Amino acid sequence: MALPRSADAGGAEPVAHSPLVRGSRGWHAAYRRVVRDAFATVPLYRERWALDGRTDPVLVPGRTGHDGGAIGHGEATRRIPDLVPIGGGSAEPDPLRGLGSVLPRLDAGGLVVVLDGTGARPPADLREGLRGCVLDPNRLTTDHTGALAEINGRLRRRTTVLAVGTDKDLARLAEALEDDTLQVLPTRELSDLGSAGLLHDPLLGFLGNVGDCGRWHVDRRHVYVRETAAGLAFTVLGKASPRLVDILVGDGVPGTVARCPRHATPVLKT
Ligand SMILES: [Zn+2]
Repeated sequence: MALPRSADAGGAEPVAHSPLVRGSRGWHAAYRRVVRDAFATVPLYRERWALDGRTDPVLVPGRTGHDGGAIGHGEATRRIPDLVPIGGGSAEPDPLRGLGSVLPRLDAGGLVVVLDGTGARPPADLREGLRGCVLDPNRLTTDHTGALAEINGRLRRRTTVLAVGTDKDLARLAEALEDDTLQVLPTRELSDLGSAGLLHDPLLGFLGNVGDCGRWHVDRRHVYVRETAAGLAFTVLGKASPRLVDILVGDGVPGTVARCPRHATPVLKT
């Protein structure tokens, strides 16, 4: 979802209690819209927040809930049908959601290879001119020989191929190729961020990346994050289904949301 143009024009309102984050007014407003809409239309949040309450925003006066109203990752995963809005929508999470907006700029004609063994669909949001595919890292040499041949051909012609996956799966792919010029970008879990890669969660998709400043930036056009007593809670902005609001990625990883001193946009620390 693209925020309205005015989203980047603010900057005065604190976000996650951190001052002077660029665009924070629009970012925070987008989050509050998602929360209010989820409370009105999505069964799990209606049930949880009506009974227990939540903070920021408080939806039922006097009820501020536990952990600010954040939802455990395990519970959200178990209750996907209750994350579908009452009006209907998909009950199938997209583990590759948001990939396009966390990738670095790639040459037109480049190929993005995602290593995923969960049956994910190919990435739907890559920039124009890029192609994407998903390979099951457990079946590279059995089911994907055609794809491996294409990747080898591209690498021989020095066309960009970027592979995204866990360190282990990237090593498997590299081993199955003839050429060693494959570009790789590892996925990272919130609980083990390290210093490079893409922050990924199988339920919420891609949540952020490392900026040229070396800090972990949130994909603020599509994702909101806030600190709660139980850990960092992430929200996918917009109205996609299943609706993912205030989910404790990693089932509760303590961390902070601050302002990047170089980019003035939100960064994470765990
Ligand atoms: Zn930065």
